[in-house]
Amino acid sequence: MKAASQPSVLVTGGAGYIGAHTAKALHERGFLPVVFDDLSSGSREAVRWGPLIQGDLRDRAALSEAVATHQPVAVIHFAGLIEVGRSTVSPDLFWEVNVAGTVNLLTVMREQGVERLVFSSSAAVYGQGGRGPLETIAETADKAPASPYGDTKLAAEWMIAAQCRAHGLTAVALRYFNAAGADPSGLIGEAHEPETHLIPLAIAAALGDGKPLTVFGHDFDTPDGACLRDYVHVTDLAAAHLAALTVDLPAGAFEAVNVGSGRGHSVLQVVEAVGRAVGVPVPHAIGPRRAGDPPSLVADPRRARELLGWAAQHSALDEIVADALRWEREPAYGAGHRDPANRRRSPTPV
Ligand code: UDP
Repeated sequence: MKAASQPSVLVTGGAGYIGAHTAKALHERGFLPVVFDDLSSGSREAVRWGPLIQGDLRDRAALSEAVATHQPVAVIHFAGLIEVGRSTVSPDLFWEVNVAGTVNLLTVMREQGVERLVFSSSAAVYGQGGRGPLETIAETADKAPASPYGDTKLAAEWMIAAQCRAHGLTAVALRYFNAAGADPSGLIGEAHEPETHLIPLAIAAALGDGKPLTVFGHDFDTPDGACLRDYVHVTDLAAAHLAALTVDLPAGAFEAVNVGSGRGHSVLQVVEAVGRAVGVPVPHAIGPRRAGDPPSLVADPRRARELLGWAAQHSALDEIVADALRWEREPAYGAGHRDPANRRRSPTPV
């Protein structure tokens, strides 16, 4: 039995990358993270700080039972589909999971009186809009998602905001910029299958465990022609969730907040940083642009500081890369993005 002093928080998608790091942060702050995850992309091994309920967001009865059993004081909602490219070929699936799944969750929360929500949103809600390449993005910037994935995140935000107005739910949507790095403990880290993210792919290429990296485009209107992104350490992201969960807000409030460092790095700067950390250059070639990639996504992080008292502490590029490299050298689980011919080099059989 859980101690009375340990309130439960339902963490949908808590077996995934950011969800697992947030579950650890919840545990460290005295909460019991109750993970609800279908394990379609998350890892069972990442659930270490509370129970795991294996279930699908589209299954309202399963969600309802999880909430009735664990009586959470709040929900942190990560579960959803995230691959931008896949969303362009299966938009119906993305709407079903990311939007209809969120409707289910909101309904269950209303039915059972759970009044606090933190939602995983994304900088993908902004797209490129009318911004110049070096402009940072404030929360009030135009919303022009460049993919069905971004559409579903924006639609879910609107629906949550309406639920706040209608039923007194209090919610914070965190618009993540580029999550990266790994917990310094080595217990949890990034393990997407397939892996599509720049930093793990660059590290795998440098370690000789993966294919040479393709840099997607070098003809953008940016200082070195490559895309600019705002990389934020996953430990910082986890801390932002705790801040969003505990900030004093009036009933019915809805807030959308950027979670980024405020600094942009180009793909080529990341390639250089990974080369420095590994000690060998990252094998790479310049390729065509990837569909739906805005040239630049860099947060204006002021609102997070004002509202949540949060600012990135561990998001210097070299710290992110060092922590990601420690994990990639010795992942506790997952290593599916590595070249199968070289997988025996990874310590965890996959
Ligand atoms: N990128 C790249 N090669 C890759 C993967 C990513 O050049 O193999 C670039 C991508 O175009 C983007 C940046 O790296 O500008 C970050 O991409 P990622 O997929 O990590 O995150 P996203 O920005 O799509 O959320």
